[in-house]
Amino acid sequence: MNPDQKERYSRQILFQGMGEAGQERLLRASAVLVGCGALGTAVANLLVRAGLGRLRMIDRDFVEASNLQRQTLFEESDAREALPKAVAAERRLRAINSDVQIEGLVSDLTPTNAGELLSGFELILDGTDNFETRLLLNDAAVFLGIPWIYAAVVGSYGVTMTIRPGESACLACLLEAGADSQCGGVAAATCDTAGVLNAAAGVIASIEAAEATKLLAAEPGARVEPSANAGRLVSYDVWSGRFQSIRVARNPDCRACGRRQFTYLEGDAQPHITMCGRDSVQIHERSRKLNLPELGRKLAVAAASAGDIRTNEFLLRFRVPPYEMTVFADGRAIVKGTKDPAVARSLYARFIGA
Ligand SMILES: [Zn+2]
Repeated sequence: MNPDQKERYSRQILFQGMGEAGQERLLRASAVLVGCGALGTAVANLLVRAGLGRLRMIDRDFVEASNLQRQTLFEESDAREALPKAVAAERRLRAINSDVQIEGLVSDLTPTNAGELLSGFELILDGTDNFETRLLLNDAAVFLGIPWIYAAVVGSYGVTMTIRPGESACLACLLEAGADSQCGGVAAATCDTAGVLNAAAGVIASIEAAEATKLLAAEPGARVEPSANAGRLVSYDVWSGRFQSIRVARNPDCRACGRRQFTYLEGDAQPHITMCGRDSVQIHERSRKLNLPELGRKLAVAAASAGDIRTNEFLLRFRVPPYEMTVFADGRAIVKGTKDPAVARSLYARFIGA
């Protein structure tokens, strides 16, 4: 540590659990965060300020006005410019701590790219908004042997669990053994139907960041028990004030960490996902490089049907009332205004190509 770092992290170094040695380890540590929403932005903010060495953030979405209530790294101008969340978050985090190696990737985590995007990191952090992606993260983490922290929030309520593959219960132990009731309303409800309080996300993100700090600053090979939450499902409801911490046993017959059947990792790329918080469908069945300026010019010629074309270097957005399409350079598209994959597919074929 140089003198600037000693000063910068002095209040954390003074804390007995960290000390200089713990801070040194954190400065050399790496983590990958999937999803830059309410949880993801709050976790990234805390860990970057704490002096994590390297952070990769993966997010497929762009900033909208309805995100600003809880996604603490974004500003009004990010929503006006429709910046991808990974890009806006990277810019903000660089301004917060230029010491940290920060990499924002505008990408969708799929079975095809999960191994490549997640391997080589010491910890995987959950900032996602759906269980399909979380089970993919769990498969990848167990397969690669990387600890990961599950976190989810909806309404006034959130849950988190630290997973150390081979040592503590994994997400499949929790969700696939008929123990659905343990994850409370989080599995069934979404931000779409139940909304979400920013404070609920803040509490769960803080627990997630504390767990990450414990794991990454710990001496190599050290067991961080009893303070770490590995194998414990922690939940908190900021409205009722109810707090719970339940021990989750490993399932010896677990599909993922027992039988090592990685169904989600081996699956085909997920065809269509209805996204949280919006009436929209994402299409990413084809990976094709698009020339966005050229597509913009073509759409402008066809202005009778496609209007209000806006573009930045990362994406192109236009309206086909009552729908709005956002197309990314990798060929991915988000169609707003429908929950019907068939409608989204037909709009894609008509304006982007079959
Ligand atoms: Zn398991």
